[in-house]
Amino acid sequence: MDHETARSATDAALARAADLARSWAAGLDAGRVGPTASVAELRERLGGPLPEAGKDPVATIDALAAGASGGMVRSAGPRYFGFVVGGGLPAAVGADWLASVWDQNAAMYVMGPAAAVAEEVAARWAAELLGLPAEASAGFTTGATMASFTALAAARHALLEQAGWDVERNGLFSAPDVPVVVGEEAHVTIHAALQMLGMGRDRVRRVPTDRQGRMRADALAEMLAGMDRPALVCAQAGNVNTGAFDPLPEITDLVRASGGWLHVDGAFGLWASADPARRHLLAGVERADSWTTDAHKWLNVPYDSGLVFCARPAAHHAAMTLGAAYYVETAGGERDPYNWVAESSRRARGFAVWAAIRSLGREGVAAMVGRTCDHALRFAAGLAAAPSSLGIRVVNDVVLNQVLVRFDDPSGDGSAADARTGAVVAAVQGDGTLWLGGSVWHGQRVMRISVSGWRTTTEDVDRSLATILRLAEAIPSAPFPAAATG
Ligand SMILES: *Cc1c(COP(=O)(O)O)cnc(C)c1O
Repeated sequence: MDHETARSATDAALARAADLARSWAAGLDAGRVGPTASVAELRERLGGPLPEAGKDPVATIDALAAGASGGMVRSAGPRYFGFVVGGGLPAAVGADWLASVWDQNAAMYVMGPAAAVAEEVAARWAAELLGLPAEASAGFTTGATMASFTALAAARHALLEQAGWDVERNGLFSAPDVPVVVGEEAHVTIHAALQMLGMGRDRVRRVPTDRQGRMRADALAEMLAGMDRPALVCAQAGNVNTGAFDPLPEITDLVRASGGWLHVDGAFGLWASADPARRHLLAGVERADSWTTDAHKWLNVPYDSGLVFCARPAAHHAAMTLGAAYYVETAGGERDPYNWVAESSRRARGFAVWAAIRSLGREGVAAMVGRTCDHALRFAAGLAAAPSSLGIRVVNDVVLNQVLVRFDDPSGDGSAADARTGAVVAAVQGDGTLWLGGSVWHGQRVMRISVSGWRTTTEDVDRSLATILRLAEAIPSAPFPAAATG
């Protein structure tokens, strides 16, 4: 293939992809929010044997779009309230396209100088928005799971170094014991990170939580007092169900006094710092040792984009650096991104984060966080104001962007309420006006509403509320005998 052919093929594929992307984006607020095709249909449309012959790039893009249609979720749209899922800000999506086309390898400065510096700058901006120390080191990860993996690896390094053990060289077999403490409601990915680090998913000590899912500081104090060595303590800023924050001022005091390491998982909750009206929820957070957050949730950067920050850069670096002789370190003060994450060749994730923050500015990030929290409050108020005959209860204190809803059964029976709640969630998903999911909160089935996308308007909230109320009215009681719910 000559250069001219390569150039025109690339141009045509990009133009076609841009057309398809623009029409998808233009329809985000219309049509069903959830998918329409079954898994069998999607396998049929995208499947077939390994092709022998190649296909024209534009025809290939068309085939992909045709095959994927029906299996697409409008999660970037204004009425997606499932899990904790943001959309993509216009500037962040554009920057993410450029990251693909520019195709910089953000491993080392020499491989992509602008990519390395964009990370550096975006990390500094993000740390300031999140109220974290300016000297904290940062890594751009695939998401919060790998951000926590990175932070807990740094903690493992530091606590074992204190005990005279070089874990990177010698591994964990025969290493001194490091106690790990988590809240009863720690996100499953904290356990996953511990599992991958050889520290054991179930070996942790769990601190009881209160009714909102917050770690009980008195119970943590008691637990730490009974330990003969410093612990790794994982706290949470933003419970994935309730949005609640662990009592960080008390927790930081306790961990600082005990000489341990405090990690804070703030996958979405950390962004509350950007909103002056909600910053108080994070008082004390800057005194932790490491922090996890996502850019692809509440900052509305496309996937995959997480951030790890560490107040002890030497531990962070020691835990992540590859240290292989053939890796030429850049000398001269440049930052090599791969030294701060568990990756070598990697996507230039800094561009999209840089663009998200640059396009919104401090004021825009604050407004987005504040607006989505206000939408959550509007959902809660609208549901609480429903006729009592509908049996609707908001079960959490709505302090952030999360609302948990229970649909009681007239019989007063708990498992019948589980069944009715599940039926209302299924009916909402089937209706298609909006999408949200169910969760289990303290043994009870609930509907979970998360308002994380930048596009949602007050009208979207009101339309979604009306849909939920209409469907709940049509399901006045558990649709099948409680015993059948298992
Ligand atoms: C979503 C979430 C995670 C995991 O984030 P990923 O980006 O999916 O890896 C971790 N902790 C909390 C509190 C979360 O909400």
